[in-house]
Amino acid sequence: MDIIDYYNEKKWCDSCASYVNFLMSVDDSYCVHCGTKVRLFNKEDLKNFTAALTKEKDQRKGRRVKAS
Ligand SMILES: [Zn+2]
Repeated sequence: MDIIDYYNEKKWCDSCASYVNFLMSVDDSYCVHCGTKVRLFNKEDLKNFTAALTKEKDQRKGRRVKAS
């Protein structure tokens, strides 16, 4: 899973609608192109990433988790 390495270097900008290089400030990060506040993932990727993490966690627990 190399998704994490990739996203460490860029963040999602809503205005540019793509992953961009960003400037860090104390609390937030901003797109170098348009200055919009960026975030780590877009919505779709956040969903995938969370799903992947959850799956991994369940597997580590040893498949005792079934939909109940
Ligand atoms: Zn931008």
